Amino acid sequence: MNVLISMCLLGVNCRYNGVPKEDTMVKELLHREDITLISVCPEQLGGLPTPRTPSERKGETVVSSDGEDRTAAFTQGAEESLRIAKLYGCEVAILKERSPSCGNKEIYDGSFTKTVVTGEGVTAELLRRNGVKVFGESELAEFFEYVRRR
Ligand code: SF4
Repeated sequence: MNVLISMCLLGVNCRYNGVPKEDTMVKELLHREDITLISVCPEQLGGLPTPRTPSERKGETVVSSDGEDRTAAFTQGAEESLRIAKLYGCEVAILKERSPSCGNKEIYDGSFTKTVVTGEGVTAELLRRNGVKVFGESELAEFFEYVRRR
């Protein structure tokens, strides 16, 4: 089974601040014969550099901490991630929590005050709307249960 995965969870240096955020439990999935991880970084796929100033969703837009409108780059990254999910037949994804691209349940509120609200990142939302079941990295038990029941 192919599973779409946020590249930064594997320790790839693609985060906005250039600091890796490897998740050892997620990385263990690399050793399973029944799972193939297909890694994407939507923000890089949208043409943004690493490192980059941080971004947050603000309503239907995405803005950087220095006031730049990044909605187009985030939308492009989401569309390219969906293209890759479809190419590889990924019906499930494990994405980085609270990211403005990858967050599946919570995101920062657009005020850059570390305030978390209920919501999805741009890519997580597009994937969900196209039938991909999205889990965060702390939801591996739920992921395995979902996969077992399919
Ligand atoms: S866009 Fe997603 S994969 Fe890329 S650094 Fe942010 S959380 Fe990780």
